[in-house]
Formats: sequence, structure tokens, C-alpha cells
Amino acid sequence: MIDTHIHIDEEAYAPDREEVIALQRESGVEAMIVPGVNVASIETVLEVCHAHSGYCYPALGLHPEDVKEDWECQLALVEKAIREHRHELVAIGEIGLDYYWDKTYKEEQKEVLRRQLRLVQELGLPVILHNREATEDILKILQLTIHNSQSGHPLRGVFHCFNGSRETAQQILDMGLYLGIGGVITFKNCKLADILAGDERFAPVPLDRLVLETDGPYMAPVPHRGQRNESRFMIHVAERLSQVYKEPVEQIIAQTNANSRLLFSIK
Ligand SMILES: [Zn+2]
Repeated sequence: MIDTHIHIDEEAYAPDREEVIALQRESGVEAMIVPGVNVASIETVLEVCHAHSGYCYPALGLHPEDVKEDWECQLALVEKAIREHRHELVAIGEIGLDYYWDKTYKEEQKEVLRRQLRLVQELGLPVILHNREATEDILKILQLTIHNSQSGHPLRGVFHCFNGSRETAQQILDMGLYLGIGGVITFKNCKLADILAGDERFAPVPLDRLVLETDGPYMAPVPHRGQRNESRFMIHVAERLSQVYKEPVEQIIAQTNANSRLLFSIK
């Protein structure tokens, strides 16, 4: 399994990070992608990825929850780091919009997203997108980005921690993006499994457009809900997908691994 989204550099793993990483390796997790969220995480993300080169892969970006009044300064520093480290980054992210906690900097969030998407297209890296309660705005910005790009690279990337409607999934797929599937799919009363499975109006979401993720330390799947998340727990996500797609779990893992390697250019 490949974990396309884990904040292994964060405080939650500080007491036993090396043991946690070793345990994931032993448990069949082949690689981890570690996204940055702000200026402070530039150093922590790169440090853990350098220490585990070929296993932990870095991404850098300015997360919407970190867009505050000093956003221009933060963005300039993040952008500088992205340019400096572009050859070792597997993506730009995580970036996006988040209106859940705080809408104060809504306009600034949009501007920061637009500017980082320009960088995504200029450098030709995939993007890791974060969306919470901002689906309409984020889709609009992405569609405009694609529409207005004459020269830049085609937009590639993933909607991390996807939990939207089938209509939203379709718009994301139509833009050529992937869906990141995490612990949410194992939660009781979650509609995500039905949405992926399709209905009389929509075909199933193609398996070659899904990647696995934890979003650790958050979002641990059942039966670990509420615990600190670890990449090996993705087996419960893979098992749920195996029920949805009526494919052996080995096939789910092989396909999502291939998708992740293709999208993020991991050997
Ligand atoms: Zn995240």
C-alpha cells in the first residue's frame, strides 16, 4: 500500500516517529507522501523525507487554514522553498479552500490557491488538494485554471480525503484528477461507498482513479477510529473498497499502488 497523505512530520508522531515508520515498512506499506501545510513544516517535512529517502516523499504548500493576515509573506517563503526543492518534491500541497472553521480569509484563501496553482502548472508537479465546505469555489477555480492555461503543464493531482457527491466526483474525474480515499469510507452512515459504487445514473468511479491515504494523524478508519492514524490501518480502507468493487483486496492494493506511482512519479 502507498499512503498518499500522512503528516508524519507532525507533533503527534514526535515521541516514537522512527518506530512508527519502521512498523509501517514491516506491515507492507511501500511509501508515504508527506504534505507540508505552512512555513514551519517546510523544514519538518524535508527533514523526515531526507532521513527516509526513497520511502517518505515530500510535498510543500500553504494550507488554507494557515492563510491569515500575513499570507503574502508565508506564501512567498513557501513558494521559494518549492522552487528550491522542486526536483525532490513529488507534489505541491496540500493547498485548497477550507470554510469549515473560519471564513474570515475566504478571499485570501482563493488568491493563495490561484497563485499556487499557477506554480503547479509552471513546474508541472501534481497537486494535493484540500477542500472543506468549499466545493463550488474550488471547482470553479480549478476549471478556470484549466481553461486559462495556454502553455503550462496539464493539471494533475488528487482531491485528498474525498467525501463529496457523485456529481462532484464526476467533475473532479472530468478534470483528470484522482480521488484520495481514506478512513471516512469505513465510518458508519458514510455515503462514500455508495457514491463510488454508482447507481442507475452514474457508473462506478473507475478504480484507476483512486489512491489510498490516511491523513494521519487524523481520520483513523474503523476499528481504530479516534486513535492516532497509521498507514498500515489503510488495510481497512482497502478491504472496504474490495467489498464495493467486488475485487480481491490484493487487486485493490495493486491498482491503487500503480495509480499512486503514476500520479506522483514514484519508482
Ligand atoms: Zn492533510
